[in-house]
Amino acid sequence: QNLDKGLEQSKTSFFSKLTKAVAGKSKVDDEVLDNLEEILVSSDVGVSTTLKIIERIEKRVASDKYLGTEELNKILREEIAGLLSETNSGQETVFSVPKDTKPYVIMVVGVNGVGKTTTIGKLAHQFKSAGYKVVLGAADTFRAAAIDQLQIWADRVGVPIVKQQMGSDPASVAFDTLQSAVSQNADVVIIDTAGRLHNKIGLMNELSKVKKVMQKVVPDAPNDVMLVLDGSTGQNAFEQAKQFTAATDVTSLTITKLDGTAKGGVVIGISDQFQIPVKYIGVGEGIEHLQVFNKVEFVDSFFK
Ligand code: GDP
Repeated sequence: QNLDKGLEQSKTSFFSKLTKAVAGKSKVDDEVLDNLEEILVSSDVGVSTTLKIIERIEKRVASDKYLGTEELNKILREEIAGLLSETNSGQETVFSVPKDTKPYVIMVVGVNGVGKTTTIGKLAHQFKSAGYKVVLGAADTFRAAAIDQLQIWADRVGVPIVKQQMGSDPASVAFDTLQSAVSQNADVVIIDTAGRLHNKIGLMNELSKVKKVMQKVVPDAPNDVMLVLDGSTGQNAFEQAKQFTAATDVTSLTITKLDGTAKGGVVIGISDQFQIPVKYIGVGEGIEHLQVFNKVEFVDSFFK
């Protein structure tokens, strides 16, 4: 229910546009397909994923010339679900990490303002509520505000945080965090990293150094490199995904601010284009407003 509420705006917008596009039309013709293409692009599905979807629908039209517009919803739904299935495994609804990996280390990357700190706070809350022992690491040492904000979340959630002064070496903070996590027998470690826009080489070097140093303490760390993207920024989110995936091995995505956007399509386009699963979605500013991404629910919310 929460998800439906959060995505209401995207749903209404996408759905009403789609309804308008087929109004007065009984079968799927070129005009309907052109309109559909425009709607998908304007919903931030992205050009290449949009073309993929249109092509698939054209194929179905080719095999059934009298394909009715009332069937379009169903077909579109199937195609989008199919695309999401290629990268997103699940119908999971609970926050969990593999039992056999301790500590499970999540390194969080993304540019400033996308909701990185908030996501870490919400995630810490969920893991703690699920019974995990959580430690946070403030390795975004570039801005004093980033350390302060993470401290506020740590206090709010009631989990320990490892930090140093602003300007200290992020890798050193990550090292300390893992050492502390191991000595406390923690289950989950969430490491914040600097979100300034570096050039590609700078970003690559910094993230790979943080990783290397972490591995001195926990050899298989990080278990997850999570890129946080702001779902309301459309093309920017695609651009950031491009930069970060070029700089490091991103293994999961969190897409935030899906409550305030008419453009939830970014979830479909990004997971398809980058072949990286969306793990969590942010649907508000509150501590409870993070959900495990469930593709079935997501598609439902678009096409109910
Ligand atoms: P950071 O710079 O990436 O660490 O970004 P912050 O975590 O400080 O978040 C920036 C702003 O986005 C804050 O005002 C957050 O409350 C807000 N924010 C984060 N996630 C969400 C979300 O899912 N929905 C909404 N509406 N706002 C969010």
